[in-house]
Amino acid sequence: MFGRGSSDMGIDLGTCNTIIYVSGKGILVNEPSVVAVEKGTNKVLAVGAEAKKMLGKTPGSIHAIRPMRGGVIANLEATEKMIRYFISKVMPKYSLRKPRMVIGIPSSITEVERRAVEECAYKAGARDVIIIEESLASAIGANIPIDEPAGNMVVDIGGGTTEISVISLGDMVVTNAIRTAGDDFDEAIIKYVRSELNLIIGGGVSERLKIDVGNASPDKNIEKVEIKGTDASSGLPHRLEIDSEQIREALKEPIYKIIDEIKAILGRTPPELAADIVERGIVMTGGGSLLKGLPKLISKETGVPVILAENPLNCVAQGSGMYFDYYSRGSGNRRYESIN
Ligand code: ADP
Ligand code: MG
Repeated sequence: MFGRGSSDMGIDLGTCNTIIYVSGKGILVNEPSVVAVEKGTNKVLAVGAEAKKMLGKTPGSIHAIRPMRGGVIANLEATEKMIRYFISKVMPKYSLRKPRMVIGIPSSITEVERRAVEECAYKAGARDVIIIEESLASAIGANIPIDEPAGNMVVDIGGGTTEISVISLGDMVVTNAIRTAGDDFDEAIIKYVRSELNLIIGGGVSERLKIDVGNASPDKNIEKVEIKGTDASSGLPHRLEIDSEQIREALKEPIYKIIDEIKAILGRTPPELAADIVERGIVMTGGGSLLKGLPKLISKETGVPVILAENPLNCVAQGSGMYFDYYSRGSGNRRYESIN
């Protein structure tokens, strides 16, 4: 049938990655939230993967930015262009019905920014737009039965923000977002390598180190890797070895900031719900939760079991895409539109 092609979209507007899930089709966009603009004119030259390649390597006239970095919209115009570009990639060309869109955003963005995001989605061709907190979206995406009268804790560690929420009856009971997340792991590695090894490395190198040999819990196998950068004294290119224990040391500070916040939220959780969480475990989502040994360390420090979601990077997009299904089959008892 014509017109029936109208699919619902779940959009994860992350600080690092934008992911679009189209119902019935799956993940159709998965690209870095990066925009390259020409200095002076502000003309957008590239968006997504192509723009990420330019980060840190741009000549003076080009400026590659992550407009959502830190969980706040640093550059609204670039953000709008980015959203429109990504949506245009998945808009059905011959459908008579416009799609509905559910967009998961960091809770730290302001009411004005939130309205701007909504506006962009309408301009890009949505028939209906719902903005939800990414904590709720990631919980739905992680298949947590959030509308039951029971406490569930979700910890989403993204690039710029970590969102920690206790959800019961379809709403957030206790929640907080902190600006310590995956990007800070990268920064911590850069700082450590600079101060302990006198080597200057870039964000790309430190992210690779984190993903390849980064870890939060001690392991019998100590891995060694070679890193290349600039010697801080001579200013010349230099290479040296670093091992997984050193990286673990480097990551301690941001990791414990996250753990302290999880403990604080648990402390503010009503006892009945806390009892459910001990039973059900803390569910972790977001790319940062993929850091080796992090779920294990969080479990050890809190005394609560920790479960890593099946596809931590896709939970928000999937949960947003499932939102309409979730509520149309009557299991949900309210629309989550409120943002404090
Ligand atoms: P956001 O929602 O803010 O866009 P994501 O959930 O996409 O963030 O997660 C991005 C973060 O996850 C980045 O800091 C990235 O380096 C980190 N990341 C991705 N894969 C891994 C991994 N295997 N180990 C550790 N960190 C990872
Ligand atoms: Mg996210």
